[in-house]
Amino acid sequence: MSESKYYKVEGEKLKRTKKECPKCGKGYFMAEHKDRYTCGKCGHTISK
Ligand SMILES: [Zn+2]
Repeated sequence: MSESKYYKVEGEKLKRTKKECPKCGKGYFMAEHKDRYTCGKCGHTISK
C-alpha cells in the first residue's frame, strides 16, 4: 500500500541527515558514501 511512499520519505530523511565531523566540530558535515562518511575538510572517515 504505502510501502513505496514510506521508502521515499525514508530516503529523503537519510539524505538530509548530515553527520557532523567529530574532529572539525559543528558546521562541518560529513559527505555520505555507500559504506562510510568522509569529512571534506580534514578527510576523517567513519564507517557506517
Ligand atoms: Zn573534519
